This record gives sequence, C-alpha cells and structure tokens, in this order.
Amino acid sequence: MAMAYPEAVCLRAQMAGALVDKEIASVDVLDITEVKGSWRFGSINQPPDVFRQRLLGGVITGAESVANSVFLPTSTGCALVLGYLAGRVLYHPPGETPPKRSCLRLRFADDSQLSVTISMWGLIRALNDQERREYVTKWYGRAIEPNSKECTWGGFRDAVSEVQDAKLSVKTFLHAFEPGYYVSGIDSGYAIEILHRARIHPKRKLVSLSPDEQESCYHNVNAVMEEAISKGGRSSEVDLYGRPGGFVPRACKDTLGHPCRECGTAIVKLTFECGSSYVCPRCQEQGGGE
Ligand SMILES: [Zn+2]
Repeated sequence: MAMAYPEAVCLRAQMAGALVDKEIASVDVLDITEVKGSWRFGSINQPPDVFRQRLLGGVITGAESVANSVFLPTSTGCALVLGYLAGRVLYHPPGETPPKRSCLRLRFADDSQLSVTISMWGLIRALNDQERREYVTKWYGRAIEPNSKECTWGGFRDAVSEVQDAKLSVKTFLHAFEPGYYVSGIDSGYAIEILHRARIHPKRKLVSLSPDEQESCYHNVNAVMEEAISKGGRSSEVDLYGRPGGFVPRACKDTLGHPCRECGTAIVKLTFECGSSYVCPRCQEQGGGE
C-alpha cells in the first residue's frame, strides 16, 4: 500500500481545495529518535523543532506534486514534503480527532487538522526551496512523470535502448525506486498492472522486448496512470477524506485465482525481486527473456 503517482496527483488536487489559505497554528510531530520500529528508518529525519521553526505560523499557499511526492508550500518559504508514503494523509474538519498513531499533525487556525500516519515507510520533511530542489534531484533524477507531455513514445524507446544492463527486468525499469529510468512514481503494484495489460511477463529482461512490446508497455504506462487518476487512485488506498479510490487492478492480490479478463486463465502469484507479482500465465508468457 503506497502512494504512487496517481494517488499523489489526486491528493494534491484535494489538498488544493481543502488546505490553501489555511494558517498553521500548531505542529505536532513525533520525535523519531524516541521511536522503535521498522518504519523509523528513513521516515522523519528532522527533529520536531525544525518542523515547528519552518512551518508554524505559515499559511499554505498551494499544493504541488512530483511523481509520488506531494508538497505543501507555505508563506514561511518552507514546504511540508510527503514522499514515498505508505500510510494515510487525512483531513479532519473541526471537532474530528486524528488517528492515535498519526506521526504528524498540523492544526490550522480554524481548528481543522491534517494528519499523516505511516504504516510502512515514507519521507516526511519540512524543506526550503533549495533543499526541495535537491530532494527532487536525489529521488527522481532525470526521470519524468508518466502521462505527461514530456513522456513520449520516442523518449521511452530511447531510454530503453540506452539501458546497458542485460539483466535488468522490465518490471524494475518501470518502478525502480531511485532515480527512475524514464518514468517516475510508478510503484510495484502499478508496474504489475501495466505489464499484465501489455501481456508481458514481469521477469522478462528489458533488452529482450520487441519494438511492439516496448510500444505496448509505453501505451499501458499512460493508459493505466490516466485511468487510475480519473478514478481517484487505487481501491487499496484512501484519499484525503478517508475514502477508497475506484481503480481496481486486474492483476493484484484481490484477483489472485480469478479468471484473467482476456483469456479466463486463473491469475497466479509469483515472488520476484523482493515482492509479489500477479500474472496471467497464458497472456504473459515468460518466453526466452529469463
Ligand atoms: Zn490471460
């Protein structure tokens, strides 16, 4: 469960509607040095004082996103950054209590609140403009957003042809964690879905793809992202108001054992590259790519 590009786009849009012009009246953030647990690592690496110093009294001036990070810039010149988040970002109208396990809570002058709960991992920062530019370079490199005007078939094809690593799988090419190969913000779940629709086995080596397969992959990157955005993100994620998204992947945990929409063969699970993949063994033949 994680915020990928479609969820970030939807969250940004909802934040723009709900949070802009609100003044931050209090900042309550967990002191990560006092936390034990698997998600401690790499999540909040700034002390509470830094968050307060940078955000308190600021007015939210907008809501932006890059790939799978969301930014809330404020009038202090610093922005709240939520990236690679596996968790929940929720808006609470006055009178509603944020979840107990939330690790960041902003209370606004009108008594509404924003809470962030991390369930597995996530980056929470308060960054100035310069640091924010460095953050984007560090995490996304020269990769671009899927479904954008920069994301062209020619660019995708060139990026595939530039890959030297003969062992690189097509799945990793789509969702590499840091800095992405061509598109950024696609997580493992979306990569599985894109490859299912493109009828390509996730274990296939990128260099083994035919030009037609490359084009199908590119086409489905954009088609899946567009559909997921239009439906408010995945059904496994919730929006700013706690409502699940409407996008249900055809190949995922929930469709394991169900008939493939194309051919009726049961969807199977395989473990690959530290995670689960879901494939139709008939539509997505492994072939000679392994
Ligand atoms: Zn099938």
